[in-house]
Amino acid sequence: MIFESLGDKLQDTIGKLRGKGKVTEQDVDEAMREVKLALLEADVNFKVVKSFVKKVKERSLGSDVMESLTPGQQVIKIVMEELSALMGDNAEKIDFSKNPTVILMTGLQGAGKTTTTAKLARLLKKQNKRPLLVACDVYRPAAIKQLEVLASQVQVPVFAQGTDEDPVAIARRGVEHAKANGNDVVIIDTAGRLHVDEALMDEIKGIKEATAPTEILLVLDAMTGQDAVKVAQAFNDALSITGVVLTKLDGDARGGAALSIRSVTDVPIKFIALGEKLDALEVFHPDRMAKRILG
Ligand code: GDP
Repeated sequence: MIFESLGDKLQDTIGKLRGKGKVTEQDVDEAMREVKLALLEADVNFKVVKSFVKKVKERSLGSDVMESLTPGQQVIKIVMEELSALMGDNAEKIDFSKNPTVILMTGLQGAGKTTTTAKLARLLKKQNKRPLLVACDVYRPAAIKQLEVLASQVQVPVFAQGTDEDPVAIARRGVEHAKANGNDVVIIDTAGRLHVDEALMDEIKGIKEATAPTEILLVLDAMTGQDAVKVAQAFNDALSITGVVLTKLDGDARGGAALSIRSVTDVPIKFIALGEKLDALEVFHPDRMAKRILG
C-alpha cells in the first residue's frame, strides 16, 4: 500500500515528540531533518520537501507552540496540517452545471485511463447520473473492445465508430448522441502514447475544442513517481487540465507523486484508484490521506 514506508518513518520520527513536555529548537531541527529524509526517500519533489520542512519549522518554533503545555502534540498537528495542505486540503468536486457534462480522459498508455473511465462511469451512475462513454482511442482496435467490455460490466452505454474515423469527429458526434439520448455526462476515452508527444497533444486539443469539456482529467500511474509529476506538468501546459486521477495506489508506490503534484502543478488530485476492480475508485480527500499517513 502507498505511503507504508513513509508513514512508518514519519510516525517514528514525530512520535518521539509526542509525550514531550518541553520541545527545544534542537528537537524540532532533528525531527525535521528526519522528516526531510523520509520525504525525499518517498520520492517527493526536492523543492516541495524544502518548502514543506521550512513551513513546519517556522510554525513549530512559534512561541504559541513552544510555550504550550503539549508542544510535541502541536508539532505533530502542524505536520499533519501541512501534509494535508500539500495535497490541497479539501476534496475537489466535479462541476455538473452543464448538461451534458463532458469529461475528457487523458493520459499515457498503461496509466489506467480506460479502466478509470469505466470506474468513473460506475461511480457517477451510483450518483444517479446517466453517463455515456465515447471511444476515441482509434489506434488500437483492442482499446475500443476493452472499453466496451468494461462498460458492459458497469452497465453503461458506449458510443464507438470503429477505428477508421477521426477521433475529433467521433467525440463531437458522441456529445450529440448524448444530447439526443438523455445522457447527462459524457466521458471521452482518448488515445494514450508511451511518451508525451506533440501529435497526441494536438489530437486532444482538437477534441477539447470540439467538445468544450468541463473537466479534463489526467490519469497518472502513482508507481512512476516523479515522472508522473513531469507528465502532469506537460499535459497541464498543453491542455490546462482540471484534475488528476492517481492510479495504482494499491501497489507499492512510495507516494512522491501524490505529495508533489498539487504543489508543483497547482492541479488538484480529484480521484484515486486503489485496484484493478471497477469499484476501486474514490474521491480524493487530502485531509484523510494525511491522517492515514501519520496513523
Ligand atoms: P490505459 O492504457 O491507460 O487505458 O490503461 P488500462 O486502463 O488499460 O490499464 C492498464 C493496466 O493497469 C491494466 O492491467 C489495469 O487493470 C491496471 N490498472 C488500472 N488501474 C489500476 C489500479 O488502480 N491498481 C492496479 N493495481 N492496477 C490498475
